[in-house]
Amino acid sequence: MRLANKTALITGGSSGLGLATARRFIEEGALVAITGRDADRLAAAAKQLGSRALALVADATDIAATEEAIATAAAQFGRLDIVFANAGIPGQTPLGGTKLEAFEQVIRTNLTGVFFTVQAALPYLSDGASIILNGSVISALGHPGYAAYAASKAGVRAIARVLVSELSPRGIRVNVVAPGAIRTPIWGAAIATPEAEKAFEARIARSTPLGHIGEPEHIANTVLFLASDEAAHIQGQELFVDGGASAAPAGAPIYRG
Ligand code: NAD
Repeated sequence: MRLANKTALITGGSSGLGLATARRFIEEGALVAITGRDADRLAAAAKQLGSRALALVADATDIAATEEAIATAAAQFGRLDIVFANAGIPGQTPLGGTKLEAFEQVIRTNLTGVFFTVQAALPYLSDGASIILNGSVISALGHPGYAAYAASKAGVRAIARVLVSELSPRGIRVNVVAPGAIRTPIWGAAIATPEAEKAFEARIARSTPLGHIGEPEHIANTVLFLASDEAAHIQGQELFVDGGASAAPAGAPIYRG
């Protein structure tokens, strides 16, 4: 058991990468609190996860609600050893067609929400705790239409480095997992029908050196590693889990002769 006697908080734990990570953490012995906005979806996730999961409704953009949820988790668990600040939204913000509210909602959720999640957890973090922030390859790749999202995820990388300086005196580690395209509901309209999903995955496969879309377990296993004592000397790193898409785009199938 790699997380025996550990306690964890995962924001956005009712779906996708957060849910897969909660499942993996529990398999490895952790007690896990998950947050989300929708009580029904959260209850369904908690039912899947079983008795070692605690589900707490909290919108990551609502700082008071986040503080309350984290205080409840800490009261139940005694302390927090792991925080996975995962809640996030995509949100298209193309130049020429974007309203301020849409731009700010992405920043508020993916960037401001991450900072205040960590701040709310701070009083309960054990010395030597592990914090993992969810970034994205989009912070580095210049995808059209993603200005706010890319900025939010680049901001997450920057915040992680600042937190390293602030939290290293307590032995607390802060790292970023930066997923490439992973099979989760986040892709919305792009995967709304089986045909659309097939076309989407084929496009990802063509632009990924390893030739296929990622699975939530790829991220869950990476976050598990970063959370565990196996990563005890890994501090301030951003780990891209993207089948090679960011490191070697020229190696993608689309460029093979
Ligand atoms: P998802 O839509 O399945 O899950 C997102 C989760 O975040 C959901 O549980 C949702 O309820 C929650 N959430 C969103 N806004 C919230 C808010 N304001 N308050 C509380 N919870 C909120 O998508 P996912 O793919 O699992 O995404 C998880 C994270 O991974 C996001 O930060 C996303 O940016 C990042 N990411 C995903 C991919 C991918 O391809 N799936 C790639 C790179 C980064």
